[in-house]
Amino acid sequence: MTDTTHFGYREVDEYEKADLVGNVFRSVAKNYDLMNDLMSFGVHRLWKQFAVGQSGLHKGGKALDVAGGSGDLSIKFSTQVGSTGQVIITDINEAMLTVGRERLIDKGIINNVQYAITDAEQLSFADDYFNCVSISFGLRNVTRIEKALSSMYRVLKPGGRLLVLEFSKPQSRLMRTAYDTYSFNVIPKIGKVVAKDEQSYRYLVESIRKHPDQETLKCMMQDAGFEDIKYHNLTGGVVALHIGFKY
Ligand code: SAM
Repeated sequence: MTDTTHFGYREVDEYEKADLVGNVFRSVAKNYDLMNDLMSFGVHRLWKQFAVGQSGLHKGGKALDVAGGSGDLSIKFSTQVGSTGQVIITDINEAMLTVGRERLIDKGIINNVQYAITDAEQLSFADDYFNCVSISFGLRNVTRIEKALSSMYRVLKPGGRLLVLEFSKPQSRLMRTAYDTYSFNVIPKIGKVVAKDEQSYRYLVESIRKHPDQETLKCMMQDAGFEDIKYHNLTGGVVALHIGFKY
């Protein structure tokens, strides 16, 4: 019997999920940045700015942006590590990575950034290599979160840190109600009108509800070996930034 997992609210065989997620991101890639701004009223930029501010990166550092998509974090990492540093942006999805690469090239970021198609669960990089590994709004899309966390732990240098920026559980009941109303009723409609794809944005909303909450994710990071884990709730816990260290 095959193991099952969730794809939004649907129960699917584990081996199916990556393809289903792949279809979602192939479909949304062209409108991805515009949709982020519309859905979050631009606030996703502040969440990402906050995350990058916690990277601990210096000039000459090495950063890995896992599930990097259109490259928001990589753009900022590239400035932090400077011309002597290295940023690798990876994604499982070629369409998303192409959008990211074109965007970075348009911004003149060419010297210190490289691109790789890789599954977060099986990162194809050396052990103990990066000072900072990030996964921003990517972790809820991977099939086996535990495997992705272990893989990211493996490629971090001792002393390095993981940043997980992801949707999480709003802390107040009022916020949860308002957020549910907005996300189930409005986001799929914006997806329908702007990206001509209601289903993918319904998946987005459902996948957020299936993702582990703040404390559960903290425990999963502990199980993967991370230490000194803390998290910051952003926008009342709509999003959380988890930070964990490898020693
Ligand atoms: N990091 C970007 C950001 O914060 O805007 C993009 C986030 S986007 C919501 C999620 C990304 O995760 C997509 O680009 C998707 O292709 C990627 N993804 C999904 N499953 C993945 C996996 N198993 N390994 C690597 N990337 C994956």
